[in-house]
Amino acid sequence: MFRVLTVFLLISVVYAKHEIYEGASVYEFEVENETQSKIVYYMLQDQLGLDIWSHPGPSRSGMVLVPKNSKEEFAYKLKLAGIKFRATVDNIKEQLDIEERLLATASLRISSDSSSKAALTLDRVYRWEEIEEYMVHLARNYPDKVTLVNGGTSFEGRPINYLRISTTNFQDPSKPVVFVQSLLHSREWIGQAATLYAIEKLVVNNTDSDLINDIDWIILPTANPDGYIFSHNSDRFWRKNRKTGLFIADLCVGVDLNRNYDYAWGTESSDAVCEENFHGPGPFSEPETAVTKNILDEHKDRIEMFLDIHSFGSYVLYPYGTGELPPNALDLNLVGVLIGDAIDAVKLSANKNYTVGNSGLLLYPSSGGSDDYARKVGIPYSYCLELPAFRGSSSITGFLVDPEFIAQAGYETWEGIKAGARYVLDSYKMRR
Ligand SMILES: [Zn+2]
Repeated sequence: MFRVLTVFLLISVVYAKHEIYEGASVYEFEVENETQSKIVYYMLQDQLGLDIWSHPGPSRSGMVLVPKNSKEEFAYKLKLAGIKFRATVDNIKEQLDIEERLLATASLRISSDSSSKAALTLDRVYRWEEIEEYMVHLARNYPDKVTLVNGGTSFEGRPINYLRISTTNFQDPSKPVVFVQSLLHSREWIGQAATLYAIEKLVVNNTDSDLINDIDWIILPTANPDGYIFSHNSDRFWRKNRKTGLFIADLCVGVDLNRNYDYAWGTESSDAVCEENFHGPGPFSEPETAVTKNILDEHKDRIEMFLDIHSFGSYVLYPYGTGELPPNALDLNLVGVLIGDAIDAVKLSANKNYTVGNSGLLLYPSSGGSDDYARKVGIPYSYCLELPAFRGSSSITGFLVDPEFIAQAGYETWEGIKAGARYVLDSYKMRR
């Protein structure tokens, strides 16, 4: 079954095209002070409507994707403002083609190697349909541990399913719950490596019995299925959901789901539909964010840790996005460091160490994030993890995924999740 689906999907992958990104460049830029920072955001986001991939700080460059026809104006404006910049990728379409080729080759290799699949091999990017089929398969084959739950329906009508993993059918209130979700931002494909690896290590190949016996888990691999499918079929760098009816003739569509949760909603995000960080018509206006909300609300007394997996940048970020610190900020930082250290201990040397901090202070102010909402409703340990998507030495960058890194990404992130889970197991017991 898996194999047939794989081959079928592969055909559509191989012939997918990336023409919309022909000639688009990725630039790094630096800001030296607060004033420059304000100017650059105004120019890049409001004036040019560009997609900022990573935000600059005192000791790090920002990254921005600039379409071919905006390059001249981009250079003119930044020069005028005295902001340093340089192109790091001349034509991102070339890298998109490389990624597609690498992933297609990885898929072929796997599908011809395996005749029957009890588990997904963790060295390729899976399509939404494959992940769904896998979850159905797990629930059927491990009924004593795995329950498939339908959390709702996406804007385009797809089921948003997640797994409840428990040896006591979620009936034992003495156990804490750890909730992990990925692919809320659809282009951040590497995130599925973390959730699929977690499922593998909890259900199929469990070597840490305390984690499955003493903790209940909720794993939601594809939080934004419409966007994820669109990122495969049409636009690799699609971030938002696929909500329509927001703008004249649907010239711009989609809501940034990680600005749509109800914490300081609308204060540090965009009200312009065409922008990448458009927060939507209201808090929880989107069916996809309502799914996370309902899970958090339903189990808030037992969820001790929530992890929203994103990419890229190697960060463990904690609330609030506005820069305000929750009362347990020191504990959040401490557990964040445990998670980051555990990953750093086994990461590839070419990739940088994880940095831990409050997202608003460390990176840039934002509002309406999932981790903020989780903290607001009382989840003590709530984080956004920004995974690296590629090996530091590879020929692709940013959100693009090198299949040679997928298993490593799953493994190293799981080391971090384990460290966090073991800490919160104790903290939950002490709190009760
Ligand atoms: Zn993200």
